[in-house]
Amino acid sequence: LDFLKELPKVELHAHLNGSLSISTLRDLGEKVYGENTEEFLELCARFIKFDRNSKLEECFEKFAFVHELTSTEKGLRYATEFAIRDFAQDNVQYVELRTTPKANSHYTRREYLHYVVESIRSAQTKYPKIMVKLLASINRAEPVAVAEETVSLALEFAKTDGDIVVGIDLSGNPARGKFSDFIPALRSAREQGLKLAIHCAEIENPSEIKEMLAFGMSRCGHGTYLSKDDLTHMKRHNIPVECCLTSNVKSGTVSSYEEHHLKQLMEAEAPKVLCTDDSGVFDTTLSMEFHLATQTFGLNRSQCIELTKEAVHHSFASSEEKQKMLIKLEEFLKRNP
Ligand code: IMP
Repeated sequence: LDFLKELPKVELHAHLNGSLSISTLRDLGEKVYGENTEEFLELCARFIKFDRNSKLEECFEKFAFVHELTSTEKGLRYATEFAIRDFAQDNVQYVELRTTPKANSHYTRREYLHYVVESIRSAQTKYPKIMVKLLASINRAEPVAVAEETVSLALEFAKTDGDIVVGIDLSGNPARGKFSDFIPALRSAREQGLKLAIHCAEIENPSEIKEMLAFGMSRCGHGTYLSKDDLTHMKRHNIPVECCLTSNVKSGTVSSYEEHHLKQLMEAEAPKVLCTDDSGVFDTTLSMEFHLATQTFGLNRSQCIELTKEAVHHSFASSEEKQKMLIKLEEFLKRNP
């Protein structure tokens, strides 16, 4: 585990509000409500009921809980900083955070993105060893008009903060919304230079999977229900599947670690990356995900390095940034032959 902990890892699938562990939520609660206040103590009491082993539908209720804490500018700024801090502590050298811009009485969607981007910038000075990018998420359970606004905001930010805002993610409860409704917004994002990471085949839905693959994407989130032919497609088009072992097993879309489709992807030599998805909600780290893969599928050290190189390759970083990541990996290998 020490080797995996020290490995300069690359995280490509991390939802901001899902990446706050219980102890980080405590830190956040303290910042938002103040120590020993009634609100803070009430919050701590609710943590106890925060059961970690629930089905996918229930996981979406957990997000609502975290969203309460990040529903103000202050909460959102601290949450962004703390999420980056936690990835940095796990020796993640590059993280692509993704988050759904939200609007409430404290902020507009534009302000939401602005606060997150600003917090990323300040966290980068505080934690200089980690590089951070951002994808704006479209929540498929929300109306198409919101998706259109999200794309236009992401395009706007990509002009001024293009070193951070690099793409669009399509996520949210896979049982809600219709993929085809989001195609025009996604197409417009892609045509204007944003990369697309799409949650695809998270649940069984062959016709939607077909539509998604025909539309295309730079990376595929989960890919749990991809068929053998679909895997051939992924290989031919060099689309990696973002594999999130703990998340898939805890949320119940995969029955056990042994049954995880990472095995089929390895056998098919199809592109894949290991990711956390929601390290806070599912109580994991990227080091733990690698550890699980070594324990379950016998991955050795050089396979872990290869997987990390694959992640560098499929990241939405610039070629210079990718080069920097590879150099860090080489330096690590020299220290750990
Ligand atoms: P946020 O976008 O920063 O608020 O991160 C939490 C949100 O990410 C959730 O409310 C969902 O919309 C989305 N999300 C997190 N995990 C998953 C997943 O496994 N499948 C689909 N959507 C997800």
